[in-house]
This record gives sequence, structure tokens and C-alpha cells, in this order.
Amino acid sequence: MRNSVRIILSVFLGLNLICISIAGEPSILRETRGVWVDKSDVHKGKKYLTEMLDRITAANFNAIYVATLYKGYVIYPESKYLPQDPEVKKFEIEIYGTVAKLEEKKIDRSMIKWIIDEAHKRHLFVEAWPEYGFYSYHTPNAKADKSRGVLLDKHPELTAIDINGQPYLHNPKWGDFYSLCPSNPESHEILINILVETITRYNFDGLNLDRIRYPTKDFCFCAYCKEHFKQDTGFELTKANLQKSEVQRAFYEWRKTQLNQFMEKLYKRVRQVRPDILISADVWVPEQIDEKGQDWPTWLNKGYIDVVIPMMYWANIEGSVNASLRLVSDSHRLLCGISAEVNSSQALAEQIHLARKKKTGGVVIWYLGKVGDDLEFLKSSVFKYPARPFTSIAKQKSAISKKR
Ligand SMILES: [Zn+2]
Repeated sequence: MRNSVRIILSVFLGLNLICISIAGEPSILRETRGVWVDKSDVHKGKKYLTEMLDRITAANFNAIYVATLYKGYVIYPESKYLPQDPEVKKFEIEIYGTVAKLEEKKIDRSMIKWIIDEAHKRHLFVEAWPEYGFYSYHTPNAKADKSRGVLLDKHPELTAIDINGQPYLHNPKWGDFYSLCPSNPESHEILINILVETITRYNFDGLNLDRIRYPTKDFCFCAYCKEHFKQDTGFELTKANLQKSEVQRAFYEWRKTQLNQFMEKLYKRVRQVRPDILISADVWVPEQIDEKGQDWPTWLNKGYIDVVIPMMYWANIEGSVNASLRLVSDSHRLLCGISAEVNSSQALAEQIHLARKKKTGGVVIWYLGKVGDDLEFLKSSVFKYPARPFTSIAKQKSAISKKR
């Protein structure tokens, strides 16, 4: 300390400390440096995950976001609501040895518990990433597959329907996706139950919401939406009617209201069981808010989420960062979702530098399977010094009061 002068700037609740040494090398003490752990990463098993957790920790990352809900499966066994991803089971045998002896049956031998424990050993912040959100099933070809997945086979009336009556979203590259109707309170209840189960059962530090939205601007035309849109706005929900700008405006607003109600209910249920968990949400950039019905500035303002992560998976993100920051009152509650898939190491480092320059809370990188080649460069440049991730505001406040 004798040879350095430290200027401490209190930026975020008095906790975001930036120290600048006399050499001018900034060491940022609080900045989330996360990476999504995709299902394809999970499917590579114990050896790969152990190596990658070691490597990202050595490169001064401090958070991971692990896929917990996708394709109509959950990652963990014995859910009350959904089957476990069958691919994961074999890794549980790999990790824990053969089938548990009778007296060990009560021991949790899930792969997700192993991942969380391994990450915590390395002091990584671990968020559950229920990737699919309202999406409930994926099939390569809906026309050849009679099923809509476990949830919708049981409750077909909850299927989200598009403007042409199609009960799924077709993606030419990826196949067909079914979604629960994001408006219906019964869908809300189902998704909330699954998310609450996930964070009650496992020791996650955060809940990283995704796909809390309508699949496209052309959803949802299910019976519930038609009936309630009419009841609430006086407009009939038909394809022809939606050509009128006042009906379209009302429809966009109505959809946002439905999802805001979902978020309020989710937030209350989550806080009942895990008052300190960080709630974050992966969202579309501002120009997509209306089309997706995803009113994330309201979620942030009302405190339903602690942190928002607009996804910017392209090369020049400055416009999107600026546009997103205009919608938030505290820049540190915004993390930039950036992609190692489409960027060189150099470009990724420049985006991280930009996120820091704009005083955002940090970055989350898509995704573990693509970031391996970038680690050395990031460690030698923008991640030279370690940093602590943002935790929930509730947790930070309780840490302060404990100190006092
Ligand atoms: Zn609907």
C-alpha cells in the first residue's frame, strides 16, 4: 500500500469499489463475469466440466449459469412436474459410481448438485438457468410427432397458438417449439412451480430467467387470450382486426400486462422460499420489447428482478448497450449478454471493455463450449485482475448490516 495511492469510488450501494493503483492499472473489485453452461456442455460430462471450471476460474471468471430446464426436461431427478433429461442420468452414474446402496438412497446423487458443489469449491457464483421458460417442448418436426411434451399433452388448452392457428413456432434451422400460453394464469402456476422446485431443492445463488415472453409478435391466439383480450380491451382478437393500429397497440400492451403479472407472482413465490437469491432475466434488446411482450424495464423498476441481461450476440453492441442503459436507472443492474460464438477473442475483450466503460454490472458470455479459445486472451487483457460478482441486493444489504 505504501507505494500506491488508492482512490475508492463508491458507485453501487456503496459496494461497487473501483481501485486505481498509482500505475494506473484499474482493478475492478465488483463485476460479474459469467458464462452460460449450455445443455451441450452438460452432456460432455464430468471430465470436460471439471477442466472447464478450472480454466474459467483461472481466467478470473466468477459466475456460471447452468441449464436446468429445456426441451420439456429438467436437469435433476424426481421432479414433481417434469421428467429428467435422460442424457444426464448416465453422468450421474459416472460421477457417483454405480447405483446407490439401499442405505444411501437418500443421498442426493444428481449431476446438478455435483456441478454446483464443484463451482462453489472454486468460489463461482452459480445461477440456475431455466433456458426454456414458457417454451415447453421441442421436436425436430411437429407434423411427425404426436406429442406436445408432458405438460401440454396433459393440458392441451394451455398451448400457445399463433395468428394462423398453428400450435407451435417453426424454426427452419432448429425445428418446432411448443410454448405454454404466456397469458394464462394456469401456465403461470405451472412454470412457477417448476422454478420454485428448482431453487428450493438446489443451492443456487441466482435464478436466471429466460424466455419469459411470447414466441413472436404473432402469439397468442388461444381461446383464453381471445376471451380475455376482448373482456379487458373491448377488441375482438382476430387477424383482420390486428391490422388496425389501435388494436395492435392494445394487444402489445395487454400482453406486457399478462407477463408483468406473471413476474409479480413469480417474484413473490421466489422470495418466500429464497429471500436472498439473485433474480436475473435474459431479455431481448429494447426494440424487441413490444414484439416479445417483454416489459423488462418494469420488472426491474418494480424489483421483480435484481439484474437484467439484454442479449447482444453480434459484433457491434454499442448501440444496444446505450439503448438498454437508457431504460435503467442503475447501470450496474444491467449485464451485457455477449457471444463467444460470433466474436474473436479480441472482439470479445473489446465488448467487455465497453461494458465496463459504460459502468454496467459486467458480462455474461454465450457459452462455455465456445469460450475455451478465448480464455488465455481474456486473462491477459480485460480479466487480468479478479473481481467479485454482483449478488442480490437483499444479500448485499444483509452483508452490510452484519458488518455493522
Ligand atoms: Zn394464449
